[in-house]
Amino acid sequence: MKCVAYMRVSTEKQAEEGNGLESQKRDIENYCRKNELIIADWYVDEGYTGSNMNRPELQRLITDCSRKKVNCVVAFKLDRISRSMVDGIYIIEKVFQSNNVAFKCVHDSISYDSPMEQAYTQMMAVFAQLDKNTMMLRMRGGMLERIKQGYWWGGGNTPYCYRYDKEQGILIPIQERAEQARKALELFISGYSDAKIKEICGFKSELVTRKVLTGVVNIGMIPYKGNIYQGKHKPIFDKDRFELAQELRKSRCSAKISCFTEPNLLTGLCYCGVCGCKMRYQKWSNGNHKIYCCSRNKGLKYLPNYNPNCNNSLEWADDIEKQVTDEILKISLNLSSYKPKAKETKLEIMQSQLEREQTKLKRLYSLYADGNDTVLEMIKDLESQISKTKEDISVESKNAINTQKKEFTYQNIKKLADVWDNIDKKQKNFILKTIIDKVIIVNGNVEIQLKNF
Ligand SMILES: [Zn+2]
Repeated sequence: MKCVAYMRVSTEKQAEEGNGLESQKRDIENYCRKNELIIADWYVDEGYTGSNMNRPELQRLITDCSRKKVNCVVAFKLDRISRSMVDGIYIIEKVFQSNNVAFKCVHDSISYDSPMEQAYTQMMAVFAQLDKNTMMLRMRGGMLERIKQGYWWGGGNTPYCYRYDKEQGILIPIQERAEQARKALELFISGYSDAKIKEICGFKSELVTRKVLTGVVNIGMIPYKGNIYQGKHKPIFDKDRFELAQELRKSRCSAKISCFTEPNLLTGLCYCGVCGCKMRYQKWSNGNHKIYCCSRNKGLKYLPNYNPNCNNSLEWADDIEKQVTDEILKISLNLSSYKPKAKETKLEIMQSQLEREQTKLKRLYSLYADGNDTVLEMIKDLESQISKTKEDISVESKNAINTQKKEFTYQNIKKLADVWDNIDKKQKNFILKTIIDKVIIVNGNVEIQLKNF
């Protein structure tokens, strides 16, 4: 069936930005396709108000209807035909109905087939008069149209790297922030975490950092209601680099999921000062952790020192962690001020002793060979001395590995204060494990037992 379509936009601004017309047109075309209507002619009033009938194209439509040139009119909404209830009903009843012209609205159901439907249609005409009632739908249609054309969806909630230019309707990059973001992207690609990047680049929060690094707006796109549209604004990131970063993020996320139990600061270090059993972290509903004695958990009775009568209190992990951190940093700082002398290791001393003894033995052997029997006793003594030294060296060689470990512990404590603020929780936990033997907790009081060093 053939039909004609009527469109109207009120202000010039709307007409310019295509705010109304494009979305009206699209919806009308979709509607006609679905309902097997072929649009033979368009009547378009641009920049005319719907509150009266002084519109050239409306007048042409009315004339064409009276001349029986038209048998079906399609409009976006009833308010496009008229914003006046009286005019609206006049057009429907006196122009369309009288001339057997069917009238279809894409977003209002207009029908005069029964008294009920007639009343309903008249009600629609009342609504059309009320700007507010129809504003929502028109705004939505307009907004999507704007975005499909690459304009930003307006002020408020502007992306971090851009400002909104009202005149042009698009986003304009903020140079400084764009550079900050590009630096952040490269850091991310080279393996830094959001938290680390936040600190290095000076973003307000981790969330802002993540939004900047994952926002498609930064490659010139506009996200809107679950879809992504090509924007008119300048991209900040190179698209390939951005996509690489997204791939990396995905793979890092899945790696995180696989080791879901990321260690807490003191994981594996806490022991109950009452019963001697291990203590562990437990997440509370407020998202914070408490540290509790495993003796409280019947499921853990296989653990050494399990004691169901233990009355040690549960403590907020934050409090315990702070105590341990303060204490360890204090130790570290004092250690840093003390520079140990470089000393020869015991093993080295023993080895040079052995060399001296062996040289001496050689001399004694040659004396004995020359016929000097008095050295025989000395040779015997020296031989037993050498075998003892060799034994000592073998023992000390085993100890040397321990010495290296102690040296490692010592170095770690010494460096701790310098690096503490720049390492993540996992690294902190690792370092603490190399220097702390046990953190013993009794009712909120903490005692740190350092490893031997
Ligand atoms: Zn306990």
